[in-house]
Amino acid sequence: MEAMKAILSNMPKRFVSAIMLNGLMMTLAYFFVWKLLKTRLRNKRIQLNERADFKQIKSEFKNAIFIFQNGAFLSSLVLYLNSLGYNKIYNNFADYNVFWAIANFFIIWVIDDAWFYWMHRLLHHKSIYGYVHVVHHRSIDVTPFSSMSFHVVEGFLLSSWIFPVSFMMPLYAPALGVFKIWGLLNNIKAHLGYELYPASFNEGWLRFLTSSTHHNMHHSKFKGNYGLHFRFWDKICGTEFRDYELTFDQVQERK
Ligand SMILES: [Zn+2]
Ligand SMILES: [Zn+2]
Repeated sequence: MEAMKAILSNMPKRFVSAIMLNGLMMTLAYFFVWKLLKTRLRNKRIQLNERADFKQIKSEFKNAIFIFQNGAFLSSLVLYLNSLGYNKIYNNFADYNVFWAIANFFIIWVIDDAWFYWMHRLLHHKSIYGYVHVVHHRSIDVTPFSSMSFHVVEGFLLSSWIFPVSFMMPLYAPALGVFKIWGLLNNIKAHLGYELYPASFNEGWLRFLTSSTHHNMHHSKFKGNYGLHFRFWDKICGTEFRDYELTFDQVQERK
């Protein structure tokens, strides 16, 4: 009972900051890309038919509110476990060396990507899809608000890597914070509906990262491009759409 009280007491603050940060970023991306620069960016639209209407955005925003609540609960729980010494999240920079604090960011990046890929494959399993992941796939023409529009069970599954990882290895809290913002920006990019990366993005080492087109194709074609940050897992498992690079180039060549 005391534990629940301690967790719940932290939630309102975390819920408000999630709305402020996530809500603000999604709204800014929508305002600039979908409204203010709409005419200038019309050649950068990935799906030619604009199908996202007010009804879709309203429902995406409603789903996001539950995801913020869910996120506030999870982060309060992680904090509570930390106060009991159950996980290895630390705040004092001097506890480990500078190399570890920086390496933390990159390690979390790789772990989050792998966790997302395999959870995403699981969410597409026919016995689960209709109950959970279908909520996210209701958005076919994705908008920045689609980035937080999913079922609460999915919200829990996608973020739950924090439990085993924080039990096993020291995680520098500010590195986690920076990664959270990085993840948010990547998520909004994935659901932007517009390809803003330059044509040269798919050349050199940058091509190992996903573009907006990559995840956009997942929403329009369903069975492929499951990756979030990197293309590694899709490449290894043969789940990347064969025409992904071609589609990326076609968006770039549109006049
Ligand atoms: Zn999916
Ligand atoms: Zn998506």
